Amino acid sequence: MDAAAGVFSYCTRCGLAVGAYPGREWRGDFPDDDDMPVADADRADKRPTDYWCPRCRAVWRALDVMETGYDRACGHFMPCNVRFCGVCGREE
Ligand SMILES: [Zn+2]
Ligand SMILES: [Zn+2]
Repeated sequence: MDAAAGVFSYCTRCGLAVGAYPGREWRGDFPDDDDMPVADADRADKRPTDYWCPRCRAVWRALDVMETGYDRACGHFMPCNVRFCGVCGREE
C-alpha cells in the first residue's frame, strides 16, 4: 500500500499538478454531488474533497478512494473512467 494512498496530486481530467488533495470517502460524500464543472474556486474551499484545476478552469470532484480498482500501467489504482492518474499524472 502506498504511503500516500487516498491523497492525490494531479487533475484526473488533464494531468496538471494541482497540489495534494484528499480522495473522497463514502462517509464524507455529498448527496448532491455531480460531475458538472463549476467555474468557482470557492467551491473547493467549501468541499474539502473538491479541487480547483487552473488549466480546466473548473472544480472537480476528487476520486473516490473506494473506487480505485483498476491497475494502471503506472502501477496506481484508478477507476477505469479516469483519463489521467491522480497520483502521478500519467495518461493512460
Ligand atoms: Zn485539469
Ligand atoms: Zn500513477
